[in-house]
Formats: sequence, structure tokens, C-alpha cells
Amino acid sequence: MDRSTLATRLKKGDRRALSRAITLVESTRADHRAEAVALLADVADPARQALRIGMSGTPGVGKSTFIEAFGKLLTGQGLSVAVLAVDPSSARSGGSILGDKTRMEELSRDPNAFIRPSPSQTELGGVARRTREAIALCEAAGFDVVIVETVGVGQSETMVAQMTDLFVLLLAPGGGDELQGVKRGIMEIADLILINKADGASKRQAEATRADYQGALRLLRKREGDPDGFPQAMAVSAVAREGLAPAWEQMQALAAFRRETGHWGRVRAAQNRHWFEEAVRQGLIHHLVQDPRTRGEMDRLGRAVAAGETPPAAAADEILSRLLTGRGGNPTDAS
Ligand code: GDP
Repeated sequence: MDRSTLATRLKKGDRRALSRAITLVESTRADHRAEAVALLADVADPARQALRIGMSGTPGVGKSTFIEAFGKLLTGQGLSVAVLAVDPSSARSGGSILGDKTRMEELSRDPNAFIRPSPSQTELGGVARRTREAIALCEAAGFDVVIVETVGVGQSETMVAQMTDLFVLLLAPGGGDELQGVKRGIMEIADLILINKADGASKRQAEATRADYQGALRLLRKREGDPDGFPQAMAVSAVAREGLAPAWEQMQALAAFRRETGHWGRVRAAQNRHWFEEAVRQGLIHHLVQDPRTRGEMDRLGRAVAAGETPPAAAADEILSRLLTGRGGNPTDAS
């Protein structure tokens, strides 16, 4: 399939075209990369905006169960839903926390849903890029809602929050009044905290945990772009499918408020700038690591620095001025 056919089919919402396009943006091969960049430009359409929802939680909190039930709720309302997984563990070890394809079985059979598991091997710096580009492709394919799921470890939440419109944190009912060691940083990026497993014997505990988090959220500085009552903590049960519709209503209310106030557009503009700058940074790093001439210079100067012959700053200047004046070779011919 040539690129223009792929673009045409993708824009019509063809799932196979979307899958192929995502495979293309995931590839690190230089020729694939050039095709991917051109494809992303071909399909870009500012008029097509999905609601992008970031969802995070530690393993076992119920993310797949929740997304399956929540996704079915949305498709039941006539909406199309894409689910993308960001698994930071796969970048490091090749292993996966988010696991195999058997997750979300019911949703994966739904014609209005598209589920894309995390690829098993990627460079760390590439995780953000391919996720952001996969979101753009789902959006171009006309999906109403794109859910980006991530495991609550490390930096992945911040990264996902920088490419989504809403951020939802899933937690389990905790013991007593302790706040489960949730870091302040993640509390600050969450728009909605959902205490999952509010059913059976843990229902009361979930309600107590919800109240604790609501109290903690009130102590946070009020954020620009939030209406009264946000960020908010709610209790839900993914298994009993309870509290999901109210959670969705709150997400929609927040999204509508942000659209009306212009906050939505400002955040998306800032996100685009951020990812543009990040792409430049990654491109430079790629050049430093991949270009044989630059690599050779790095090794030579690295030895000089280690031997105490050149100060680190002077050696860095030498590399950078070569790159910037093109004397070390053309930065675009790194292959
Ligand atoms: P993930 O690792 O965050 O994706 O979590 P899973 O969705 O795989 O769920 C982990 C375990 O928690 C499974 O045994 C689920 O059946 C269970 N679970 C998920 N949601 C709920 C819920 O709302 N209530 C109860 N009681 N168990 C749940």
C-alpha cells in the first residue's frame, strides 16, 4: 500500500490502515521514519480532535478491567474509542508490565474500539514519540476518545499528561488515612482520582479513601483551567461497573469547561511546542550517538577529558560548534 492510499484509508477510519500506520511510526528504520513523518503530515487535520484521556495506576489496581468497562460504556453511547498502552518497562528490559493481548477481551471485539498493545522493544526516548504519533494517527482516523494507559512507575505519567487533555489516576482502597505514598507530583497532574474496587467488603474503605484524597486535593493550589470542584476524587467499581457513568460525566464537564475557556487550545498549543522541541533534542542526541564521525570525535574528546588534557566544558564546546557549523558532517545525513 503506498502512502497516499494508506493516508486515504486511515482518514476513513480503516482499522487495518491505522494498525499499519502505527507500525510505521514505531519503526526506527531511517526509510520508515521518513515515510512516517510524511504520513503524519498527510493526515494531519486540526479539525479532528479526539478527547485524549491519560490513565495511570499501579499494576493490579484494575486498569484493564476499568478501561474495558469504561470503553464499553462509551461505545454503548455511540462513541468510538482507541486504547493505547505506554509501558515504560518494555523500554528498559524488554519485559512488559501491561502484559499480553488477552486483556480487555470484550472491548477488543467491539467494532467501535481499537486496542493497540505496547510494542515490546523500543528505545527509551522513542516511547514518547511513538505514543504521541500513535495518538495523532488515532485522531486522524476519527476516533472520538483516545485512552492512553500507563503503569504508575517512573516518569511515564508526566509524559502521558503532556500529550493528553485529561489525566485520570486509578487507586485502590487504602488502609485508614494514609495516602498510599502517592507522590505529590502525580496528585498535581491528576484531574480525576478514581478509587477503584469500591464493591463488596472494600466499599466502605474505598469511600474513606476517596474522602482522604478529596481532602488532600483541596489543599493543592488551584490550577488554571479548573472549574470549581476539580480535581475530584470519586469511588468506582470496574468489576460491578458502578460509578463509571458519573466519572465519564465529570470528564466531559471538565473537557467542556476547558474548551469554553480556551484552556484546551492553549494546552494543546503548548504541548505541540514541547514535542517539537523534544523532537529536535532527540534528533541531536540520535546524531551524537549514531553518526560515525561525531561518535569518533566524542570518543577522542572523551579520552582527552578523562586524561585531564581538556576540561569537560571546552570539549563539549568543540563538539557543539562542529555540529552547529556543519564541520563535523551534515546533521541530516545521520543514518
Ligand atoms: P491492572 O494491572 O491495573 O490492569 O489490573 P487488572 O484490571 O488486571 O485487575 C487486577 C485485579 O483486580 C484482577 O483480579 C481484577 O479482577 C481485580 N479488579 C479490577 N477491578 C476491580 C473492581 O472494581 N473490584 C474488585 N473487587 N476487583 C477488581
